[in-house]
Amino acid sequence: MERIEFRVQGSAAEPYVVVFERTGDNIDARCTCPGSRMAKRCKHRLSILYACTDGIVSGNLDDVGRVCSWMAGSDVEAALARVDSAEAAWKAAKGALKSAQDAERAAKGGTADRKDSAGVRNGTLSQFHGVPRRLIMARRMRLADR
Ligand SMILES: [Zn+2]
Repeated sequence: MERIEFRVQGSAAEPYVVVFERTGDNIDARCTCPGSRMAKRCKHRLSILYACTDGIVSGNLDDVGRVCSWMAGSDVEAALARVDSAEAAWKAAKGALKSAQDAERAAKGGTADRKDSAGVRNGTLSQFHGVPRRLIMARRMRLADR
């Protein structure tokens, strides 16, 4: 088992400790940042795996290349490839959904126009009904003020 440790300055006062361990084609990566501890997003591990040296304060920048060299053929590389293809599928589905919604909107175009003109007519009517009510309310308030 190989082990490489980095200290990465994040938003906290104390640098986070990012540890990579390789056993065969398995890479285990841990980080002490709050995101990682809460099993949420941690950018520190991935940024090092993507050869980013930003924030590394442990002085072992050469080790970033070593960790990156572990990626080829590893379980992490396979997992990231699955994430990439899932994201591509999600984008394709999103595009298909938008096309379907555009087609639906176009098909309903005539109905929507009729509704809009009816809405305008109703709006005009309610304006006529609303004005006297507002005047009455205003008069009542002025009377109450006296
Ligand atoms: Zn982290």
